[in-house]
Amino acid sequence: MTFMKFNPNDKYFTEESDYDNEEMLNSYRLSAYNWRPGMKNENGELMKLRMSKSTITGFAFCPYQYYLQKILGYKSTETAAMVKGTNVHNVVEYFWKKVPEHLDEIKSLVEENKPNQAYEVMKNVIPKPPEPYENNEESSIETWLNWQWDRFLVTKGENWVPIANEQEVHAMFDVEINGTKIPVHMKGYIDTIFSDGEGGSTLMELKTGKWNKYKAAYMRKEMQIYKMMLENSPEGGSFLPITSWAWEFPSGDVNGGTKREWEIEYMGTNKTRYAPKTVQKMIESLVRAHLFDDFKPIHSQKCKSNCRHENVCSWCDFMDICPGWNAEEGEENGK
Ligand code: SF4
Repeated sequence: MTFMKFNPNDKYFTEESDYDNEEMLNSYRLSAYNWRPGMKNENGELMKLRMSKSTITGFAFCPYQYYLQKILGYKSTETAAMVKGTNVHNVVEYFWKKVPEHLDEIKSLVEENKPNQAYEVMKNVIPKPPEPYENNEESSIETWLNWQWDRFLVTKGENWVPIANEQEVHAMFDVEINGTKIPVHMKGYIDTIFSDGEGGSTLMELKTGKWNKYKAAYMRKEMQIYKMMLENSPEGGSFLPITSWAWEFPSGDVNGGTKREWEIEYMGTNKTRYAPKTVQKMIESLVRAHLFDDFKPIHSQKCKSNCRHENVCSWCDFMDICPGWNAEEGEENGK
């Protein structure tokens, strides 16, 4: 199945990288998702484990699905939801690149008490696709734009434009397992980073999926992964300290979601204080799995009587080859 894909930017942000830190690029070159202990490349150089936000959260979701995708290289089928997410992100990336050219005009119109005209100028920065969207992207984009408009009115344009847009981040660190330090390289792109106006920064993540009461706990893990990456990266210095993080779900009411939602959380509160430990445990579990070649499916025959996996597994591309669902009694826990 094909979908209408729209990118108003010259290239995808992953293609237009001008990242130039040699030490980090060399570390990235010597890293692999399918790392195993003692692994060397064709030049005999020792390799290290490569991670990203999605591999850490993906492993936590199901180690066996991670194994199929990242170790064996199985691909998931592209879905409408994925294309919608990419289309909306492309438009938002473009908007933040272009809107500074119109900022003075928007500010003047607001000061002259012409909010409708100011809003129109802002809205016209949003590019139109050559063909109609197929997944209701326009509704998501409109809600997102209205939130930016509200924020503009509150901030009067001060620190309203992000200081980083699809920021590439590389991080290096060691993970200690049973007294041994295992080197790791992480790479990722942070949607947007805003100045908090007081020398620190706010991380912002845009999601086009549904919102429900479980999402905040999940988002905290994702944002902590970004925060930790910045704290272990050369580019982090421009943004640290991270004083808050935020997320926007402008399609939060799709697929049974409860509402369109955005939230901001500040560091040092009860909500955010446990995130570092949680993410550290997730990373250690992922390293352990590589060390001991242990990638069990979340579902097994053992949870047959009280199983809550069928719903999530029914979305998995690999259910028909998953030993958790297909193994005979007693052989379900292995690859
Ligand atoms: S079907 Fe479920 S248990 Fe099996 S790989 Fe997919 S998500 Fe994991």
